Amino acid sequence: MSQKALIALGLSTSHLVDWAPDVRLDPAARDAFSALTHRAANAGFSLRIASGFRDYDRQMQIINGKWDGRRPVSDAQGVALCRPSQPDEDWLHSILRYSALPGTSRHHWGTDLDIWDAAAVDADYTLRLDPGEYSPGGVFSDMTLWLDEQIAADNAEGFHKPYAADRGGVAPEAWHISYRPGADSYLSEIAAERLLPLWRGEPDPLGNMHEPLTMLHVVEPRIEALLNQYVSTQ
Ligand SMILES: [Zn+2]
Repeated sequence: MSQKALIALGLSTSHLVDWAPDVRLDPAARDAFSALTHRAANAGFSLRIASGFRDYDRQMQIINGKWDGRRPVSDAQGVALCRPSQPDEDWLHSILRYSALPGTSRHHWGTDLDIWDAAAVDADYTLRLDPGEYSPGGVFSDMTLWLDEQIAADNAEGFHKPYAADRGGVAPEAWHISYRPGADSYLSEIAAERLLPLWRGEPDPLGNMHEPLTMLHVVEPRIEALLNQYVSTQ
């Protein structure tokens, strides 16, 4: 498997640089975000990263935790959903609206980040990353408006919002931006034949072991449709 494919699946960290103690980014995305941050500061915004790179194992913990009910799963209104009330396939889609299957997250690449505006809130503000914060009247609405104008004018240092619209897959995420020149090349590396062995718990191409995907029996029969709905079309 090529280095590009390993990065696409979240199995390699060798290309990353530090942005903050707990935030790592692709170097080109780091430089572009640095430029964007300076321009935002001139407009009165203090851009911060809530989440940058996230690896395959971390994404597996999140997904398995949601499937098993150890982590909360919410609907569009932020209301917690109840596992026993949903058939397996419904539960799967409830999870995939907000969380990617391991190996398919754009956060694996270091080119994608979730942002907020520290200038808009108090130092003790608890970030929720929910649509209301970024909508008109929300705490980050001015920053969102400014950034969306830059993106619309193709003047956002290469960043865009892959989850801006609801296409029936991943729910809209106004906080998620992607450095397009870096990100575009990874999407085509994501394929069922690379994911399924990993999800079964087989060693990856580097020889490392990973936790199996608990929901594999539900995912495997519909893998191509799921990749189409939640990965390729974004
Ligand atoms: Zn994100």
